[in-house]
This record gives sequence, structure tokens and C-alpha cells, in this order.
Amino acid sequence: MTPRSPNAEVRIRPLAQLTTLRVGGPAEVWTVDDDEAAREATEAPFRPIGAGSNLLVSDDGVPERVVALGRPYNDVRRFGAETDVWLGCATPLPGLVRRARQAGLSGLEGLLGVPAALGGAIAMNAGTRFGEIGEVLEEVEWLRDGRVERVPASELGLGYRRSELPDDALLLRARLRLARSTPERVAVALAAVDAARSGQPKAKSAGCAFRNPPGDAAGRLIDLAGLKGLRVGDAMIAHEHGNFVINLGDATAGDVLELIDRVRAAVDAPLELEWRRWGF
Ligand SMILES: Cc1cc2nc3c(=O)[nH]c(=O)nc-3n(C[C@H](O)[C@H](O)[C@H](O)COP(=O)(O)OP(=O)(O)OC[C@H]3O[C@@H](n4cnc5c(N)ncnc54)[C@H](O)[C@@H]3O)c2cc1C
Repeated sequence: MTPRSPNAEVRIRPLAQLTTLRVGGPAEVWTVDDDEAAREATEAPFRPIGAGSNLLVSDDGVPERVVALGRPYNDVRRFGAETDVWLGCATPLPGLVRRARQAGLSGLEGLLGVPAALGGAIAMNAGTRFGEIGEVLEEVEWLRDGRVERVPASELGLGYRRSELPDDALLLRARLRLARSTPERVAVALAAVDAARSGQPKAKSAGCAFRNPPGDAAGRLIDLAGLKGLRVGDAMIAHEHGNFVINLGDATAGDVLELIDRVRAAVDAPLELEWRRWGF
């Protein structure tokens, strides 16, 4: 398919290349470098993708277009010392957190180590017990039905690792409000978050597989059931953290699903997936 817009690129790609778990079959991937290209990409059924760090994609891929925001939507280099700032939704969180520390801006510390793009972070209301993106989000600009609209954060239905973003909305930009602090104070807060994350595996994963049940931790329940190290094909429950499924090399979505089913069968509490599942 050849797009009309000169600022859209279309390629059939295995989604394993675009996800951190490195699992998933092919899709028509549209990379869009401006709003006009984004408008064209969203004329047919589509799924937005960010850093692909919370996705389990079927081995058969997805029939919809997969829309990725291109480089012009990554504002990490432009981000300076402003407390009130509009940023493109392809801006990577790790870069933002680093720049905020350098500039002495507070509000993003709880997102240290979350490998999201800004759009995906908003869609999932990414965060940790130290803070989440919703706490600093003022409003977004999304593309929906061919129109760019501004929507206040209060209308996005943000909750624990969730939002009520409509399926047909593509987040383009977001306005964050940060607080002025000092690089030293921000560094101290980051060190506390870093210490809390130190037990997480470095292998290929999609972060925590399950939401924490109220008042408990999914990882603790999985550990208690003796499931660390459980393996199906190349998919394994990490030794370091029971809520992480890692890909040892050639895991398929089928392996991952079977592993998850075994975990659910063995744990004595209902476990709800945190990942978004595509194409099943
Ligand atoms: C090692 C590791 C550690 C992690 N730690 C944490 C953690 O501490 N806390 C936490 O909350 N999460 C964590 N995660 C999970 C993940 O980083 C978050 O869920 C993150 O918000 C996903 O962002 P993404 O850009 O990768 O989105 P994707 O995985 O690409 O997409 C996730 C969802 O967002 C939607 N989406 C993406 N971009 C847009 C857009 N522009 N417009 C509309 N919808 C969009 C997608 O359609 C999809 O439904 C971790 C993941 C990994 C791999």
C-alpha cells in the first residue's frame, strides 16, 4: 500500500520487532511524521503503538493497521527547563526522566525505569507506588474521526494502570505540569525508586504480566506458588521477579499464553492481565 501522504511510511513488519517481549506476527505498520499522515493512517481500523512495552501480540499478527508516531513526535531533545510543557507522544519516558533530573524538575521520578513512550504511558497510566503519569498530566491532543481535539486529563478515566481512552483515538501530544526543584533533590528521589526496582530482570519482557490484586502483589502470589523458573518453550517466569515473563530467545505468543494459563491455574487468587493483548 502506498500512502498519499509523503510523511507516512508503510511497511509490513513482524510486531516482534516493535515489542519489548519480542513476540508477535506481522502487521501493516504506518509510521507517521505529521498530523496529516496520522489522519490518513487512521482512516481504516488501526491500533496505536508506542514503545511496545506492554503488549502481547498474537503469532498471527493483527489485521488492523498499526500506527506509530515518527521522530517529529519525539520532543526529548527540545525539553528544557519548562514546568508547563507540550510534548509529542513518541517522547520516550527514560529520556524525559533524565532531562527532568538535569533541569531540576520534579514529578516524573516515579516513572524511572518505565520503558514507555509518552502516548503509551498515558494509555496505561504508567507508574509505580512512587507516582504515575496521570499526576502530572494536564491535557492531551488526540486525533479522532479525522479531527485533532484537546481533552483534559480529567476526562481520560485514568486509574490504576488503566485509562478509558477510546479505541479510535490516537494521542499526538500531551501537556505536562512539573514542579521546580533542584537536580540534587530529584536525584535523591530517583535513587529511592531505583532501589525499589533493583530486583527486576534485565531480560526481554513486557513488564509486569498481571495487575496487583487489591492489597497484595501478583509477584508475591506467584512466588508463593513456587512458579519462578516455570518454563514453556522459551517463555519463563523470571527467577528475579514472579510477575515478569521473560523471553529467553525464541518464545512464541502461544508459549507465553500457555505459561500464563499455568500460572493462573496454580495461583489461589484471580489474576488479571496487565498487558494489552492484540490479535487473539
Ligand atoms: C522492563 C519493563 C518494566 C516496566 N515497568 C513498569 C512500571 O514500573 N510501571 C508501569 O506502569 N509499567 C511498566 N512497564 C509496562 C509498560 O512500560 C507500560 O505499560 C507503558 O505505559 C507502555 O507504554 P508503551 O509506549 O510501550 O505502550 P505500548 O505497549 O506500545 O501500548 C500500550 C497501550 O497503549 C496504547 N497506545 C500507545 N501509544 C498510544 C498513542 N499514541 N495513542 C493512543 N494509545 C496509545 C496502545 O494501543 C496499547 O493499548 C514495564 C515494561 C517493561 C518492559
